Amino acid sequence: MSPPDVMSGRPADHPSGPGPDPSPKQEPQGFNRVTLMLAGLVFLVGLIPLVAALVLFQLHSDAEMEKAEITAHRMATLLMRSFEQAVEPIDALLQNFASNYDHSAAPYQIYEQLKDFSVPPSVVQLAVTDRNGVMVASSLAPPGPEKVDLSDREHIRVHMGKDPGKGQLFISKPVLGRVSKKYTIQLTRPLTDAQGGFAGVVVASYAISDFIDFYKQLRTEDGQLIALMGTDGIVRARATNRTSFGDDLSKSPAFVAAMQNGGDAYRQASTVDGIERVGFTVRSGKFPILVSVAYSTDFVRAQSADFKAAIWSTAAGLSIALLMVVAVGGSYFNLQKRLEAQEVQALARLREANVLDAISRVPGVSVMHVTPEGASEIGSPPDGTLGRLLRSYLGRPRFRTIVADLNAPRHINERLSDGETDVEAEIVVAPLQGMGPGGSGGQEVVVVAVDQTQRRMEENKLYQMSKLASLGEVATGLAHEINQPLGVIRLAASNALTGMKMGLPPEHLVSKLDRIVQQTVRMSRIIDHMRIFGRKSDEHLQPSAPLDAVEGALQVVGAHLRLDNIEVETAQGPDIPKVLCRQDQLEQVIINLIQNARDAIVERRASTGTDFPGLIRLRVGCETGKAGRLLRIRVEDNGGGIPEDVMERIFQPFFTTKPPGKGTGLGLSVSFGIIRDHGGTLSVENGEGGAAFTIELPAMKEEPAAQAV
Ligand code: ADP
Repeated sequence: MSPPDVMSGRPADHPSGPGPDPSPKQEPQGFNRVTLMLAGLVFLVGLIPLVAALVLFQLHSDAEMEKAEITAHRMATLLMRSFEQAVEPIDALLQNFASNYDHSAAPYQIYEQLKDFSVPPSVVQLAVTDRNGVMVASSLAPPGPEKVDLSDREHIRVHMGKDPGKGQLFISKPVLGRVSKKYTIQLTRPLTDAQGGFAGVVVASYAISDFIDFYKQLRTEDGQLIALMGTDGIVRARATNRTSFGDDLSKSPAFVAAMQNGGDAYRQASTVDGIERVGFTVRSGKFPILVSVAYSTDFVRAQSADFKAAIWSTAAGLSIALLMVVAVGGSYFNLQKRLEAQEVQALARLREANVLDAISRVPGVSVMHVTPEGASEIGSPPDGTLGRLLRSYLGRPRFRTIVADLNAPRHINERLSDGETDVEAEIVVAPLQGMGPGGSGGQEVVVVAVDQTQRRMEENKLYQMSKLASLGEVATGLAHEINQPLGVIRLAASNALTGMKMGLPPEHLVSKLDRIVQQTVRMSRIIDHMRIFGRKSDEHLQPSAPLDAVEGALQVVGAHLRLDNIEVETAQGPDIPKVLCRQDQLEQVIINLIQNARDAIVERRASTGTDFPGLIRLRVGCETGKAGRLLRIRVEDNGGGIPEDVMERIFQPFFTTKPPGKGTGLGLSVSFGIIRDHGGTLSVENGEGGAAFTIELPAMKEEPAAQAV
């Protein structure tokens, strides 16, 4: 630790001073909060790109689904049209056959007729049944002797017992042809006889494998579905990973919705293979048929995989970049803060040094910087006395005890002495914050000592002035007080003389001389008191009996009061303790208060024009309060009290309401100073008839030896 280089204006190497402390003790808590907030911020910043990626991905995935749905819709529409185009000529053929049908024609004729129709290769057979569902003729072979009964087949039964005129084209489920031995769907229309009654069914067997193969070829994507369904919900042809037909979809919500809406988009898990798909179902306006095209959602999502990978890696890269920006920003911010703190610290140190330097230049002031290693002088008065005395004081155990308990600036009065020179100093010891463990005795402090010797001398002068002023005031009373015994002595002496001349017995002479002696004792008591009163007060505190001070004061001013027709009423409580004070000073205070009381009474008489009897009450008591036992002396009068607007100023030196030549304005200010110097208080309030002054002084516990102030 080097001494603070105040004179050169260079800051000392301790990091703080009386200026703002850049590192407050609350720092750990604040630091935690800031760290948490920063961590949260960093987390949020890092999260932003990831959240954005998630949202983007979701949007993209939704768009892909929508795209799949649109493609499916388009494709289903095309397939429906192709199916309708495939079925339309066959249906035209069936209608044509039905309208020209001659039910009386022989089976062979019908066979010939059927055979001659030109049909696409996918129509594997044309056949006709009679009204009972028994095959009449088939385009595959000439009618034979065996009877093929098809009445159990749905595509035949569906027309039986119905009005054949209203019969529509029926498209059956795929069935295994008994004659063709192929899986076909049957396109059927009813036939009528001459009366318009039901006469049988004409059937075109369509090889469903055609559709299935076609659908399979169209199925380019894995998990894609193309299906042809009847309005009964039964699958006519279905191409997925596994080709099938005949599944019942009538309960599937997508099918139900498509039936209701004439076609609909859907997204659901298949009731057949459990795969979730997104697609579209189109319902034919001409035939009882629906076409579905759908893509597996897994497939659709897989389309987003590249996008997903791209977007996640971009987001991760962005997150890292942002975190790096935050990290760089954070450390820049920290650096900035540290630099600012250092700047503030340096400024604070400079200011501290300047302030201490300025203080040390005030005349009569010495400033020291004290560390556990020792004291270094910042500045002292040129003659060096105060600095020298202060330095030796700083080495004393008494000072070390003060520093050990220090956590705020402390103010003390000390008499600094080296045996030869005495200096009365007012000392302020202030801890330097932010250094070492507070209150551990290892603290750094600044000590400012102000030489008060001069001020004390001034005060003493003031005190003497006030005493002399009081003396002047009491002189009138004293003249009377001394005049009276003098008169008595004179009378006793002349009586004794007369008695001697007349030859009166010696007893007469003795009684007169006794009287004279008594009066001289009284006079010498008064004169003794005047001596104490006029003496310059000594510097030492003595245990004093307050009652003696009261009595002494009354001896000085009693006669004066009697002259003014003012009664003095004294009262005292039990166990009045002694107080540590200069007896003459306490007496002086009481005299001041009594004289003021008398002045107030006389003034009130004059202003009211009434000669009311004056009364001054003096009460001496003792009370135990928080701070220990207190001696209390109360002086009350019936002089009318102190006006409120004056109340605040009465303790100020030279404040007086009395006419020039009468008041000095020193009585109360000096009294206040005396009581304060003895560790007590002097207070005032307006009582019933007048002012009431109260002196409070700490009571003595035991009789200590004389002590320096
Ligand atoms: P001084 O008596 O010379 O005026 P003090 O300092 O003793 O000076 O008193 C200051 C003022 O306080 C007085 O001038 C007076 O106005 C007021 N004062 C003091 N004591 C009393 C009292 N007992 N009653 C009314 N006024 C008082």
